[in-house]
Parts: sequence; C-alpha cells; structure tokens
Amino acid sequence: MQLENNHTDTPQFIFPTNARYRCVGCGHCCRQQWVVEVEKECRDALPDDLKAKIEPSQQQYPEAAGILKAGQSEAGCPLLDTDKLCVIHKRLGYDAKPFVCRAFPFRFIETPRGVAVDVSFVCNGVLNNRGDSIEQHRPEIEKLYAGSTRRIKVGERVLLKSKTSVTFDAYRLIEESLLHILSERGHTVEDRLVAGNIFLCSLYTRSNCLSSMYVAA
Ligand code: SF4
Repeated sequence: MQLENNHTDTPQFIFPTNARYRCVGCGHCCRQQWVVEVEKECRDALPDDLKAKIEPSQQQYPEAAGILKAGQSEAGCPLLDTDKLCVIHKRLGYDAKPFVCRAFPFRFIETPRGVAVDVSFVCNGVLNNRGDSIEQHRPEIEKLYAGSTRRIKVGERVLLKSKTSVTFDAYRLIEESLLHILSERGHTVEDRLVAGNIFLCSLYTRSNCLSSMYVAA
C-alpha cells in the first residue's frame, strides 16, 4: 500500500493512496479470535441486558472494565445480532460502542513523518476496495485519533530483524521498492510474490554489506 504525506492538517496524517473502504455489514470483524476491551464509560452506559454479556476483564487488559470474546463461538461476538449487526450500534448508536469497534478497520501508527493511517485487510469492506478513499474518511479518523489512547509508535529507526535497523526514511524506501515489485501488473501474482520474497531475502542476507544509510547494528 503506497502512502502519501498530507501537509494540510495537524496532526499530519499519512493516508494510504490506493485503498478504499465502505462497511458492507458482513459481521466478519465480529467473528475473529479477538478480545475486545470495553472501557468503563462504555460499559457503564449500557443497559443491564447488554452489560450482562460483557465478561470481567483479565490481568492482561488492565485498562479495560470488561472484555468481549468475539471468536468464542461461531456466532461471534456475544453482542452480534443474527442480522450480523452490532446490538449496541442498533440500540444506542455508533458512539456507544467500545473504542476498538468504532475504530475498526483503522489503526494509527505515529511515525517521525506523521500519523500513518493503516487499514485492516481482515475487513471485507477494505478487501472490496470500494467506497470512499481512506482520506475521505478524514473527519471520523480525526475524531477517532483524538480519542485513541493506545497508539503504535515508530521511532527514527525501524528494526528489520534482530540487531538490524534502518532509518525511517530508508524503511520507506524499502517499502516503496517492495510495493513497486508487487504492483508490476505485467507479471502474474505468483511471480510478483516470488520476486518480492527474493528482494526481502537478499536485503536480509546482505544487510551486513549495506551502507550505513540503510543499516545499523
Ligand atoms: S469486516 Fe468490515 S465490512 Fe464487514 S462488518 Fe466489519 S467493518 Fe464492516
């Protein structure tokens, strides 16, 4: 996925340039082996019958007031209705849902060049690549980002493998090269994947020989 800087706003978002998204209401995201952390404000605002579906939080989710196990049964999240729609969303609206459910399929990665907006390919709406471009979702993305507490951070150096890191700009160069290989439409998907794999393998095996611009132990 190619990323393009946008210089108009603060924070500066980096939107994927060739991805689109529109929710098709398939409920696929609500049937993954995911644990959904439910914030206190979210849980407290729910009516008792919905609150009862939320399990107590566990040690590994110290900030959550409760959890929902989306992939526990074939039916998916305990708050997924038979019409594949979220019961909280239907009864109380989008804003009443836990943060991760509102944010999906978006993810925010803070980089030295801005906040990269990532999208999950678990989402059928993203896989279909229809609907609005990701940048056209800017108003909801800005709101979500402002309310997000856990953001992924990428520093000035990016770890490629154990003890091998590159500058963020060099990483972008590598990513662009890989994307260029994968998007060469004159070749079959299989050939592009093999070429991409060879590119990455050669990068790793020759990493000790690369100049200091690309690699530092
Ligand atoms: S997987 Fe994507 S398209 Fe399907 S319900 Fe979830 S957000 Fe919507």
